[in-house]
Amino acid sequence: MRRRRFSAAERSFIEQRAQYHCEYCIAPLDFSPETFDIEHIMPLSKGGSNELGNLGLSCGGCNTRKYDFTHGLDEITQEIIPLFHPRLDIWKQHFHWDDTQSIIIGKTSVGRATINTLELNRKGVVNLRKALIKYGVFPPEHVL
Ligand SMILES: [Zn+2]
Repeated sequence: MRRRRFSAAERSFIEQRAQYHCEYCIAPLDFSPETFDIEHIMPLSKGGSNELGNLGLSCGGCNTRKYDFTHGLDEITQEIIPLFHPRLDIWKQHFHWDDTQSIIIGKTSVGRATINTLELNRKGVVNLRKALIKYGVFPPEHVL
């Protein structure tokens, strides 16, 4: 299937469905200098579609790291595991926050493989979370 442009209405729906946060690292769209990417959860190159059920909202950093990967390494079990799927999986079932609420910890193999592959605790994202915690707007309700 070929990549296509998304309409303003589709983008708006996808942003709202994601509650205006990256669906992986939970970076807030409102505090990003760039718009977020609409990403194909199952990459087009691997048979994914342009249907809304295969689309996610991702910050550029997560989307770049996700590339066309569908699986990643769980460093604890050393197994290759499917990455978190924002349409099929529930974030809170696979991830939770450390005591500072600035570091994402994997609860499951899926969570750990996704943290590892997408580097969900990269320095700039963690620093942004810490600043937003001081500002009183992080973490958002939907991932608490
Ligand atoms: Zn992200």
